[in-house]
Amino acid sequence: CGIVGYIGEEQAAPILLEGLEKLEYRGYDSAGIAVYNGTSIEMMKSMGRLKILDELTHGGATLPGTVGIGHTRWATHGSPSDVNAHPHFNKEQTIVVVHNGIIENYMKLKKKLEAKGYEFVSETDTEVIAHLLDYYYKGDPLETIAKIMHRMEGSYALGIMFKDQPDKLYAVRKDSPLIVGRSNVGNLIASDVPAVLKYTRDVYFIENEEIVCMTKDNITFYNIDEEELEKEPTTIEWDI
Ligand code: GLU
Repeated sequence: CGIVGYIGEEQAAPILLEGLEKLEYRGYDSAGIAVYNGTSIEMMKSMGRLKILDELTHGGATLPGTVGIGHTRWATHGSPSDVNAHPHFNKEQTIVVVHNGIIENYMKLKKKLEAKGYEFVSETDTEVIAHLLDYYYKGDPLETIAKIMHRMEGSYALGIMFKDQPDKLYAVRKDSPLIVGRSNVGNLIASDVPAVLKYTRDVYFIENEEIVCMTKDNITFYNIDEEELEKEPTTIEWDI
């Protein structure tokens, strides 16, 4: 399983597909990507090999845009299927998320959200994250992410996009791997270093409960108290 994300000058979809390919060794049963084209967040996802996703999107060409997130899923909650594949949206399709890990208290959160009128379309634990983000979102992504971190138990690496933040990509992790790559053609997130090596050797290792906010030429790190953190990149010397 793996997550990738890209924000920059290039078309995102081909970069996401390629990054996911580099994470194939981690294993997966389905794959998907979401790309923001400036007007709407468009998504394609499918059970099975990445090759299928590649064909469905014509190598990414059917999903134009310069910011996006991608996922290969290793099903833990809900069978491998198209609908359970990531990314997952809120109802209005204004917030989209990819997730590696397990939300241990998802049932409790799901019941709470359902009582507030949220409808679930998948069987995944991940979908609670999309609706929880929706529930708390009042225009401040950082505050919202910190809030949901207080509500979620378990492990997660997340890539998140908000429709009203077209030039930003968010990520956060707890007990699931996540790295950030800084390059001169844009910034990337990934579960592991090989997914970004084509573009950069400048990598930030994200610690537990650190939040990342990226634009195409800026990366900012925060802790769960929304305080900005100073982080230094590591230069990857090894080859793969
Ligand atoms: N628990 C999530 C699911 O079953 C994410 C699995 C993964 O890490 O790929 O959809």
